[in-house]
Amino acid sequence: MAKKQFKAESKRLLDLMINSIYTNKEIFLREIISNASDAIDKLCYLSLTDDKVGLSREDYRIEIIPDKEKRTLTVRDNGIGMTSEECENNLGVIARSGSYKFKDEMDSEKSQAEDISIIGQFGVGFYSAFMVADEVTVITRKYGEEQGVMWKSSGADGYTVSPCDKESVGTDVIMHIKADTEEEIYGSYLEVWKIKALVKKYSDYVRWPIKMDVEHQERFETGEKDDEGKPKFDYRMVTENETINSMVPIWQRSKSEVTDDDCIAFYKEKHRDSKDPCALVRINAEGAVSYKALLFVPGEEHENAFMGDNKEGITLYSNGVMIMEKCDKLVHDYFDFVRGVVDSPDLSLNISRELLQHDRQLRIIGQNLEKRIKGELEKLMKDDRPKYEEFFKNFGVHLKCGVCDEYGRYKDFLRDLLLFYTSEDRQLSLKEYVANMPESQTRIYYASSDSVKHAMSLPQCEQVRSRGYELIYLTSPLDEMVLESLREQEGKSFCNVLTDDLGFETEEEKKAAEEQNVENKDFLDFVKEAVGEDIVKVRLSNNLGSQPCCLTTEGGITLEMEKYFRHGPSEEMRKIKANRVLELNPQHRAFQVLKEAYEKDQEKAKKLSLVMARLAEMISGVDIEDPAAFVSLVAEMF
Ligand code: ADP
Repeated sequence: MAKKQFKAESKRLLDLMINSIYTNKEIFLREIISNASDAIDKLCYLSLTDDKVGLSREDYRIEIIPDKEKRTLTVRDNGIGMTSEECENNLGVIARSGSYKFKDEMDSEKSQAEDISIIGQFGVGFYSAFMVADEVTVITRKYGEEQGVMWKSSGADGYTVSPCDKESVGTDVIMHIKADTEEEIYGSYLEVWKIKALVKKYSDYVRWPIKMDVEHQERFETGEKDDEGKPKFDYRMVTENETINSMVPIWQRSKSEVTDDDCIAFYKEKHRDSKDPCALVRINAEGAVSYKALLFVPGEEHENAFMGDNKEGITLYSNGVMIMEKCDKLVHDYFDFVRGVVDSPDLSLNISRELLQHDRQLRIIGQNLEKRIKGELEKLMKDDRPKYEEFFKNFGVHLKCGVCDEYGRYKDFLRDLLLFYTSEDRQLSLKEYVANMPESQTRIYYASSDSVKHAMSLPQCEQVRSRGYELIYLTSPLDEMVLESLREQEGKSFCNVLTDDLGFETEEEKKAAEEQNVENKDFLDFVKEAVGEDIVKVRLSNNLGSQPCCLTTEGGITLEMEKYFRHGPSEEMRKIKANRVLELNPQHRAFQVLKEAYEKDQEKAKKLSLVMARLAEMISGVDIEDPAAFVSLVAEMF
């Protein structure tokens, strides 16, 4: 029989499949099963208006028949079937729909490696069979036809179409599996366990039963008796025609059928998580894009979930067929701890095969998901504060990074989800903080330190608290960056009590303080000189409460940032230093003693200046560089 040639455009795709270096060849089964399922859909739909079809819903099935001897894998359906023209039109050319678009993409400048990765994500339908088979035979009979058709091809050199006998309507796709090579054991696609695993992975929720003969052990009574007269048992292998997919996914069922508890049980099983998720989002959207989603915020952070290595993520399905295991385009990184499933029929018809549209639809879905996730978290924050705080402890860092990402592009979306620890020993959102501010308070005060305990002991904090104002304690450099990115809250600016003017002094007081500094200029210069390079300035301050001295900073780098940079990846980063200012409390006895020494005994005054600098470091939570030197300095003064 004369071979017919594939159209040129198909040939290239076919070549690619046959010689595919793609590692995910296993998706061929998903593709062939999806076609079978579509074919059943079509016949089932027809049966609604045509009672001659003679099949009821329960009769439809997809069968998988591995035959190791013949080395064939057959996928059989009792769907609509194809006429010989349809075989030629559908299998002989790249289908009008997605595969064509796929080919277009491939003709562009992209590298082959990239082309190949696209195969895995979107599939190219029927042709993918050639990734694992060296010959594919399709035996099919269209509904309403008496005669069957056999289409056969062993690859790029063409195909034959001929009439054949087929008893019932439907299609058999018979793939002759390639010989094993060193790199690839193609024979594994004939193993029952492997087929079961692939169906579970990719086609578990196809809505028609996928049947296969599965062997298992059975215990049976042999009919003989043992010494005690009890019946003897033995084991034998029996073959059963099993349904190997679970068919109806939980997210396709309505809220009246499936409770939230059912969803939680599903989550725990699917993600092997012993902890309940802390939030659940169920969406049934109809509109521009229809989809169902079942999403979970895990109860705790899982290993590798941070650092962009969250293997679980959101899985994308189209009509029960998995199209992407971890779809990271769906939501931004700040929500990448969310797990679950999105299933949209719109993806299968237009998208799974048409890349560009795909992106647009995904974006719409993604935006909706984000709104719903945020809504759910806000609800949790309001209704179950301890649970929200637990959530924030686990995942707050994702949200904080999100606020800082891309120059603060997402800060307003995320700001109300952030919590900050305050001097009242509680966690507040900025909105709540501002709502609690007394009328006289105009700024949002914060102090950063490596621990809350230390922050509480800072003299500047004492000042703020003594006025009845609440303070935010930041304990990580990321927190400082978050506030920097947020800039303000409801028009209230942030005030770093360690570097900024607290705004407590009247103009007159400020003037008086300035004059005091001018008056003491020579003395302050002396102290600066004595302390040396470590500080850029010495200044008098009335903000120190009961403490003798303190370190503050000038410019953008704070002491906390400096600590953070010290462990940075580059030498340059590690060298970054804050501009330190030594503040002295003129009300304190220590100041009087230092000043007296300056006037009477400058050697002693030098030493006292150094002691003062070290004390300031201590109180500001900075490690003293040379504790031994400090100890001998103090000891000498006895
Ligand atoms: P796509 O599914 O994107 O259309 P495929 O290459 O997978 O592309 O399939 C091409 C066409 O071949 C299908 O659209 C369908 O019309 C036909 N086809 C494939 N498999 C079957 C089948 N089992 N039964 C009926 N028609 C089929």
